[in-house]
Amino acid sequence: MEKTIKSYNPATGEIVGEVQITPIERIPEIMHKSHDAQSKWKKLTVDERIDYLDRATQNAAPFSQELIELLSREMGKDLGRSTGEVHGVIGGTSYMAAEVKKALVPQQSVGGTIHYDPLGVVAVISPWNYPLAMFNNLMIPALVAGNTVVLKPSEETPMVAERYIELLNEVLPQNVLQIVHGRREVGKALVDADVQMIAFTGSQAAGRDIMQRAAKGIKRLVMELGGNDPMIVLPDADMRHAARYAVAASLENSGQMCTSTERIYVHSSIKKAFEEEVIRVASQYHTGPWDDERTQVFPIINEKQRSKIIDHIQNAIDQGAKVLLGGTKHPDRYIEPTVLTDVSEAALMSKEETFGPVVSISGYETKEEAIARANNSIYGLGASVFGKEGVEEVAKQLEAGMVGINKTAGSSPWVGAKQSGFGYHGSIDGHRQFTQVKVIS
Ligand code: NAD
Repeated sequence: MEKTIKSYNPATGEIVGEVQITPIERIPEIMHKSHDAQSKWKKLTVDERIDYLDRATQNAAPFSQELIELLSREMGKDLGRSTGEVHGVIGGTSYMAAEVKKALVPQQSVGGTIHYDPLGVVAVISPWNYPLAMFNNLMIPALVAGNTVVLKPSEETPMVAERYIELLNEVLPQNVLQIVHGRREVGKALVDADVQMIAFTGSQAAGRDIMQRAAKGIKRLVMELGGNDPMIVLPDADMRHAARYAVAASLENSGQMCTSTERIYVHSSIKKAFEEEVIRVASQYHTGPWDDERTQVFPIINEKQRSKIIDHIQNAIDQGAKVLLGGTKHPDRYIEPTVLTDVSEAALMSKEETFGPVVSISGYETKEEAIARANNSIYGLGASVFGKEGVEEVAKQLEAGMVGINKTAGSSPWVGAKQSGFGYHGSIDGHRQFTQVKVIS
């Protein structure tokens, strides 16, 4: 049986490091320790818990450069993006904690006083595309609210998570924050264990399984799942501005982003000019490894994901799409920026998450048609609309948790609609998801 997980550098295939898989039979003991720690952690004041977290992140801060390089080597993203993520996590924690504190202040209601109590132990299960930020966003509100956390980071990026948690744990009280490693079997065992909430970020498939397992114990859930974000470009849009956003939002993080723009609907009157501008901008993006400072598009996390992207591109071509840039032939480990037009509604990339650096364009004739096509999806994470007249009306009609006007989606709260999940983080309402609401009258 597999005892360790090796972490690979996506640019070279070299081994970055190795972590021990947590044996499933150890999970009950880990839970026991977590509950024990929670009984003391919840008795601290909110300020005392925040003070611990502030000191813990300050303890990690001098090791930022080590974390940045580890994140890049393990996940593949360029140093600039890793720097943004590490600084965002370390620097943003105290701001987030202060926002959670506001959410925890008891409120008066007609019936009495509403209190926001901790739930108990929260399992945080996270993906690889933002190896630190994704778990931090859920872990901090959970901890500030008085819960303890057992974290399972992605098996693709265990090393940077391990190191960061180790640095935090030099300051935090014992067992308030524990980390387990493994593939989905360990995730499943965590969901089945004595946890009161599962705060999950990842795919629909895993989300569905977690919901079924959690049903047994009516466990609380935060489900931050995938998307297939549409962008609508109205005929009076600032075409160059929209094209720049279309490229940036499709290629960001090599397209490996939950709110990546995956479908672009452009009014037929400006479609040709828009395509030309998209090609001009996208062809300037530099593809390369993490340690090349010119890199904007970096290697795909693994071969399975890379083959899926190529399959989606081929499938779109088979259904009539024209290749304007890139295509299906790419250097090993990479997908270079690819621009397709006349992508059919029936193509896989119009229906499923591609999660790669692909700009997928198609034309439309009427606003009603564009809205209907944008909404014709099981997903509803982000969406955007570019234009002037009636742009807010279009935004209101889009079925998504986050809609950007003349910019791409992404905000606080970070929230999905439809099968992109439920329960969320960020904002007062988001932070309260990590609490048990109790009214005392
Ligand atoms: P994934 O679902 O394969 O894995 C995510 C985590 O869940 C990993 O730690 C994995 O080991 C674990 N896991 C897998 N199956 C499980 C199960 N049945 N029970 C318990 N745990 C299980 O996702 P991924 O490939 O790591 O990440 C990419 C996905 O995450 C994309 O769909 C992306 O859109 C989504 N995502 C969503 C958001 C958001 O905020 N909505 C943010 C980032 C990524």
